[in-house]
Amino acid sequence: MKVFTDQTHQALHDPSGYLVDGVMQPNPEQPERLKRLLSGVAAGGHEVIAPKDHGLAHISAVHSPAYVKFISTIHQRWRRNPKAAPEIFPNIHPDRRTASYPESAIAQTGFHVADMSCPIGEHTWESARWSAHSATSAAMAVEAGDKMAYALCRPPGHHCFSDLAGGFCYLNNSAIAAQYLRKTHDRVAIIDVDLHHGNGTQGIFYERNDVYTLSIHADPARFYPFFWGHAHEIGEGAGHGYNLNIPLPRGTKDEGFMTGLANGLAHVEAFAPSAIVIALGLDAYENDPFGGLSVSTPGFAKMAGMLAALNLPTAIVQEGGYLCDELGDNLQSFLSGFEANA
Ligand SMILES: [Zn+2]
Repeated sequence: MKVFTDQTHQALHDPSGYLVDGVMQPNPEQPERLKRLLSGVAAGGHEVIAPKDHGLAHISAVHSPAYVKFISTIHQRWRRNPKAAPEIFPNIHPDRRTASYPESAIAQTGFHVADMSCPIGEHTWESARWSAHSATSAAMAVEAGDKMAYALCRPPGHHCFSDLAGGFCYLNNSAIAAQYLRKTHDRVAIIDVDLHHGNGTQGIFYERNDVYTLSIHADPARFYPFFWGHAHEIGEGAGHGYNLNIPLPRGTKDEGFMTGLANGLAHVEAFAPSAIVIALGLDAYENDPFGGLSVSTPGFAKMAGMLAALNLPTAIVQEGGYLCDELGDNLQSFLSGFEANA
C-alpha cells in the first residue's frame, strides 16, 4: 500500500520534556519514532511517497480560525520576549472554554494547550503541518480509488480538539482525513485503536451524525485523558448515538481487546459508512513504555484483519506507539495483516 510521510519536516519537532508526577521527564514523542516506524514500513516493502503541501484548507476544515492562527504564529511571537525559553509551556488556564479570548502569548497558550505534554518549539508548526499533509494525502489516495493508504503521521493528532492541543498532539490528522473523505462519502467512521482515548476526535465530531467515532482504549478512570473516554459519552444533539467508547481494564490482552473491538465494529456496520479512517496507535502493545494494555505483536495483525473485513476504502493514520524494540514490527504486523485480509 502507499505510505505517505515527510521524513524531513516531520522529524524537526523535538519536544524536550513533559511533566509526570511533578517531574520534567524526557518527552516520549521523539523524532526517533519516525525512524522506527519507517523500518516497519521498509520491512513490509511498501511504497513511501512524500506528501504535497495541501495548504491550510484541510486543516481549517476541522480546526478553528483562532487556533490555526495561534499554532502557526505563536512561536514567532514568543521569541520576541528575550527572556523566554526555547519552548512554550502554558502556566495559566481559563476555567471554562466560554472565558474571554485573551491577547497575550502566554494566555493564548493556556487557552489552546490542555496539558504539559505539548511544548511548542521552533519547528512544531512545521512538523505538525506536514504530518497533517500526510493524512490528507492518504485520504486523497483513497478518494482516488486506492483501497487503502497509510499516513505515517508524526506528531500524532487524536488528542487535539478543534481549538485545543494536548497529549503530544497539535493538529488532528485523523479528523482531517475523515473530513476530507466526507467530500465524496456521506458517512465516514473513525475507528481509534490507540491505547488512549481519542478525545480530540470525539470532541470535533461530538454533535455530528455524519462521522461516527469509535474509540477502544484503556479505561480513563485512572488513565490519560481522564476527563473523556467513558462509556456514557455517546454524542450530543444531532450526534447523539454517534460516538462509542469502549474502555478496557488495564492489562487487557489480545482476546479481551478483540472481543471489545468486535462489539464496536458491529455498531460501525450498523452506521453503514462508505469509508473509514483508522486512528492507529500502537501503544496498546504489551511492552510499550506506557504499559496500559497488553496487545501482542501478532495481535496487531489480528486487529487489522478485523478492520480489513469491513471491506471499505480505508485511510490508516498513525497515532501513538512509543519507543520499544518492537515498534516497527508492530506496524509491519498491522499493515501486512490489513493487506492480507483486504
Ligand atoms: Zn496513545
